[in-house]
Amino acid sequence: MIIARGLDEIDLARAQLAAAGRSVSYVPTMGALHDGHRSLIALAHEYGDAVIVSIFVNPLQFGPDEDYARYPRQLEVDLEVCRDAGVDVVFTPSVSDLYPAGRQVTVSAGAIGSILEGASRPGHFDGVLTVVSKFFNIVRPDVAIFGKKDAQQLACIRRMVTDLNSPVRIVGAPIVREPDGLALSSRNRYLTQAERTSALSLSQAMIAATQQPTPAAALHAAGATLAAEPAVQVDYLSLVQPGSLAEVPADYTGPAVILVAARVGTTRLIDNADLVFTPRPEPDPIAEPAAGRAPGDPAPAPAAV
Ligand code: AMP
Repeated sequence: MIIARGLDEIDLARAQLAAAGRSVSYVPTMGALHDGHRSLIALAHEYGDAVIVSIFVNPLQFGPDEDYARYPRQLEVDLEVCRDAGVDVVFTPSVSDLYPAGRQVTVSAGAIGSILEGASRPGHFDGVLTVVSKFFNIVRPDVAIFGKKDAQQLACIRRMVTDLNSPVRIVGAPIVREPDGLALSSRNRYLTQAERTSALSLSQAMIAATQQPTPAAALHAAGATLAAEPAVQVDYLSLVQPGSLAEVPADYTGPAVILVAARVGTTRLIDNADLVFTPRPEPDPIAEPAAGRAPGDPAPAPAAV
């Protein structure tokens, strides 16, 4: 496994892969790797001949009151995880590699980046898209893998790739969860045991929503599940259309995503689930009455003998 610690080293590693005619799958991460990241790397192997992983805690996507300083950093452990997962190249740039003095231009996520997470974390998705776009230019992947755990991030990246004609295919990977349902996250390590138990209400709310027949019932079931856990302070709970992230109308049928963000103690957690609302069957006016006798129906005439 090649460890590319700066821009010259990743350029060289990338050139060697190109010379060998190997296609590249890319997994961007902020490190503190867990089984969610491992599943993305496994998927990356299916999509490309070589897998490049970047590990970079991106200051641009953290707000001033967020956990940039205390975000877990464990490079040696992460490198072992990558080695174990058969990663070809790990790219670990420094902040000054990516943000040298004098830089000015950033990517703006637009309207899709200003709702939900973006409303609570102004500038977050501009920071994400700026670094991802820089990584795309440096790594030049054929395919890039992103987790559905960060559903709005995935939607913003798809939007950017479409709007800026980026020559990369985006693949979304399913959410990896603990056996009890908690979505894996590098931030779960901040939770106390009691907070971790309370945090289960997020995944339980998502499951409750997927079992409902209508948008209103889904939002109600998820909201009631969250409200039953007083230690969980909901930031938003929203039911949206995939892709646009526009809120679904009450009579909506089709695919949807329910998203939640909540604070448990000092830790902010997010979760989401895919749902499909199917049209309710119209009663058929010329259908045969169901077999059997409804209460009040006259008794059938006895058969002639
Ligand atoms: P992060 O290191 O948190 O920036 O995440 C790097 C990538 O891993 C992102 O595409 C995340 O969506 C993805 N990811 C994080 N947690 C999970 C999870 N539990 N399941 C699937 N993908 C995940």
